[in-house]
Amino acid sequence: MSSPSHPFSNKLDVVLKLAERCNLACPYCYYFFQENNPNANRPLIDRETIVHLAQWLRRGAHDLALKNLFLGLHGGEPLLLPKKRFDEYVGILRQHLDDRVDLAISIQTNGTLIDAEWIDLFEKHRIIVGISLDGPEPLHDASRPDHKGRGSYQATVRGLRLVQEAVAAGRLPPTGILCVANPEHDGEAVARHIIEDLGIDSFNLLLPREGHDSPIWRDQQKWIAYFRGVMKAWQASARDEQGRRRQVVIYLLSRMVSAMTNERRATENDWLQAGKQNIITISSEGHIQLDDNVIALDDRLCRTDQTIFDTELLEFVSGDLWQELVHAVQTVPTQCSVCDWLRSCRSGYLYNRYSKQNGFLNASAACETLDALHHMLLPLAAEMVGIEAVAEILGRRPDYQASNLALDGNRTLMGAPFDV
Ligand code: SF4
Repeated sequence: MSSPSHPFSNKLDVVLKLAERCNLACPYCYYFFQENNPNANRPLIDRETIVHLAQWLRRGAHDLALKNLFLGLHGGEPLLLPKKRFDEYVGILRQHLDDRVDLAISIQTNGTLIDAEWIDLFEKHRIIVGISLDGPEPLHDASRPDHKGRGSYQATVRGLRLVQEAVAAGRLPPTGILCVANPEHDGEAVARHIIEDLGIDSFNLLLPREGHDSPIWRDQQKWIAYFRGVMKAWQASARDEQGRRRQVVIYLLSRMVSAMTNERRATENDWLQAGKQNIITISSEGHIQLDDNVIALDDRLCRTDQTIFDTELLEFVSGDLWQELVHAVQTVPTQCSVCDWLRSCRSGYLYNRYSKQNGFLNASAACETLDALHHMLLPLAAEMVGIEAVAEILGRRPDYQASNLALDGNRTLMGAPFDV
């Protein structure tokens, strides 16, 4: 039986909306529509909410025996918060939490507002910077225009370069790029641009936050073609121009390869997958919600009736919606139960499993693409450790249930096998 003291046990991700407005107007983002929405949350979080949140998280960490807290500063665009307030607010959060949990703070930004003063603040508060970038300039500009329809690529890359300089100088931890995968784009061109033109060694491709009710997954062949292109660029990047080995991490793919080739990393993946529902979103007004990626799937998942002012964290994770996610994570869909990739795939992202009819109890809506990705990665994995070793790792089923933060620390992540 696995030990409950694994670094990935008792872990919670908190997505904190510092600013619920954005200086860009990406057509796929709902913040674009908030400017004139009288029901929208307040544009910027205030000091009272931050102080209350810091105390609320401290109590919650105690009640749930949390060891690791990953605090993601999000928006809208979080850098719309004035620097002085940002400095004070992050200081308040660190002051209340640093001695209670292992606190990692990241920020997800479109990068356009980053300047030297922001770099100083990121360094001061030990913040991991993630920048959203959708590919070469024309693609990025089409998907990330500002409110006047002007492209944002140049401003984003200017911000990225400042972060890269700070990373190279040892002032900031390595940065990552988040790129929204789009099957209408040329996957190879997108990946080559990120790896070769921008010199990025670590990035992730985000699958759309859509489930079975969305038409986006109907043509999986388009998705498979997109990822074939990405794979081509990834393999070409294995050596740099001088022929030296270069290791580029594309998180979506690298995680699969690790989970197929290395038992220790496969076990890490088991733990991560068992706790993938452990994400809460806090709005600028203190509403507590499920993972930001999940709430847009269905109105019933987007409740605003609980706030940090009236509901403790333990009460929230004991609630019906949270427990629905826990149940989904430990329930293997029939289709997945006979799949060779179950251990490395674990039915994919939770939000891709959703349908209004069946909730989260489906295989991923991107299953065909995930299956094709594993087939593409298998030769690489076999070359690394041999096909027998890959088969042995994949053949070992994870033997613990989903993390359930509503239970005490000793029971979390221990116990019965999946419910099939
Ligand atoms: S590839 Fe498909 S069937 Fe296999 S585990 Fe993933 S979602 Fe399930």
